[in-house]
Amino acid sequence: MMQNTNLAVSSAPLTVPELIRMAYDCYYQFLPYFRDQPEGSISGKVEIEFTPRMRQKLGLAYLFEHRIRLNQTYFASEASLMPYTLFHEMTHLWLYDCMLDPGHTRRFYKKMAEFTATGFAIDPDVHVHTRIAAEGKFVYSCPNCNNRWYLRDRLGYAIYCGHCFDKDGVEYFAKPLQSERPTPDLNTNDTAA
Ligand SMILES: [Zn+2]
Ligand SMILES: [Zn+2]
Repeated sequence: MMQNTNLAVSSAPLTVPELIRMAYDCYYQFLPYFRDQPEGSISGKVEIEFTPRMRQKLGLAYLFEHRIRLNQTYFASEASLMPYTLFHEMTHLWLYDCMLDPGHTRRFYKKMAEFTATGFAIDPDVHVHTRIAAEGKFVYSCPNCNNRWYLRDRLGYAIYCGHCFDKDGVEYFAKPLQSERPTPDLNTNDTAA
C-alpha cells in the first residue's frame, strides 16, 4: 500500500517559516562558493526575508544593508526554484563585498555558472542572462556610511546617499573612491579628511 502523503504535503504552498528555514539551509550550503575566492569573500551575516509585496521581481539584494528580499508569493508555490534566485542575490552581495561592480557583468555570470554544481534547479523564467553589463570602473562612496556606487561613466552631477537620507535626513554626497583602478583625470589632491 503506497501512500504518497509526503508528496501531498510538499505540493502545498510553503509557509514563511518553512521558506526561511529552506533559504538559510541553501545559504549555508552556498557559502563555500562565496568564501576564500580569488576575488574575496562575502562578509558577515546575510539577512534573508520574504515579502508578499514583490510584484515585478523574484528577489532583490540590498547591498549596503546586507539583506536579501525574496518573493514570498512566487517561492511559496515554486520552492524548488528559490535556490537559484538566492544564489543570484548572493552573487550581487559577494561582488559588492569584494569591492567589485555588483551588477550583471561578465564576472557576475561567471560566478552564476557555478550554480550548476549545486545540483539545484535553474529557474527557466529568469532571463537576465541575455544582457551583460559593462563593468563599472568609476567607484564612488558615501563619506558617512561607506555605501558604494559603481558607474560606467564619471558622475556628471551630484548624487546623495539614499541610505543616509532615509536614516538621518542628511544629504551626504557621493565622493570618488580612491581605488586600484584610478581614473585618468581624477582630482587626487582633493583628499578630504
Ligand atoms: Zn540581479
Ligand atoms: Zn550614506
